Amino acid sequence: MKLSLVVPCYNEEENVKVFTEQARKILQGIEYEIVFINDGSKDHTIQKLKEIKKEEKENLVIINFSRNFGKEAGLYAGLQHAAGEYVVIIDADLQQPIAVAREMYEFLEANEDYDEVAAYQEERKEGKILTGFKTAFYALINKMSDVELYKNASDFRCMRRNVVDAILSMSEYHRFSKGIFAWVGFNTYYRPYQVQERNAGTTSWSFWKLFNYAIEGMISFSTKPLRVVTTLGIATSTIAVLYMLVVILQTLILGNDVPGYPTIIVLILFLGGIQLTVMGIIGEYLAKVHIEVKNRPIYIAKEIIHSNKTGE
Ligand code: UDP
Ligand code: MG
Repeated sequence: MKLSLVVPCYNEEENVKVFTEQARKILQGIEYEIVFINDGSKDHTIQKLKEIKKEEKENLVIINFSRNFGKEAGLYAGLQHAAGEYVVIIDADLQQPIAVAREMYEFLEANEDYDEVAAYQEERKEGKILTGFKTAFYALINKMSDVELYKNASDFRCMRRNVVDAILSMSEYHRFSKGIFAWVGFNTYYRPYQVQERNAGTTSWSFWKLFNYAIEGMISFSTKPLRVVTTLGIATSTIAVLYMLVVILQTLILGNDVPGYPTIIVLILFLGGIQLTVMGIIGEYLAKVHIEVKNRPIYIAKEIIHSNKTGE
């Protein structure tokens, strides 16, 4: 198998068929397969996928999750079952043109020096505020972590087998794929592309989902917040000790007039606040360790269906 398309699907009943048809047209002449992951869709995505399998003689793999495990888990499952020498990760909603996937594949075939091509959005079709948040996120995470995330680079990419194997070797439960792609390294070529309108259905990423995803990324790929916490703790304690000295001196020299009630309240609130923040941050890491230590599978597949051109 030359090329595998890994396509995570969550409520994409109206898109999977169109996707398959477009792929057939655009990828003519290339030996390819499509690996669909049905990520616990609430609509009829799985029925549609089975119809495609029945009606069309395509090289297909359908991985049917037992529930919604998230796109990241879907990608992992897809990469595990992709047989291609080259693997493309692409959305089911046709926002990412299959023609660009083909170009990325051809680029890798022609350029031995590169292991991977990643597509980034030339111009973002979204609100200014969201773009602002995203810019802040990239600035922050690139400062905090050792890996360098390429701004606006999506999951939309084509990679060689060795890159796929490297990604699969990272079997952590909390999968922040932007970080994982950067962490494994390799020679990546970045190319722009125009993101399209969704073919049908709605996006499943709300602002809060994105916000949580961003926090996830920072916690997974940096321990700097813990360092900040330590620094903060040391700083407050130092200030507290200094203040204590001031109070002692004041009492010795000036005597104790009215006890500093407001000061105490302020200090208690201040320290209490810092302690809660610190505990929260430590808790975040602990929670990650807790889940990671359980060593749960990244996904559970109800069924995995293979079919190939001969219709078996
Ligand atoms: N997706 C998924 N599981 C989820 C959410 C999304 O497999 O829990 C898939 C979805 O079907 C699509 C891709 O991930 O193929 C990108 O999702 P979406 O189009 O909603 O995101 P956007 O393009 O708005 O970033
Ligand atoms: Mg989309």
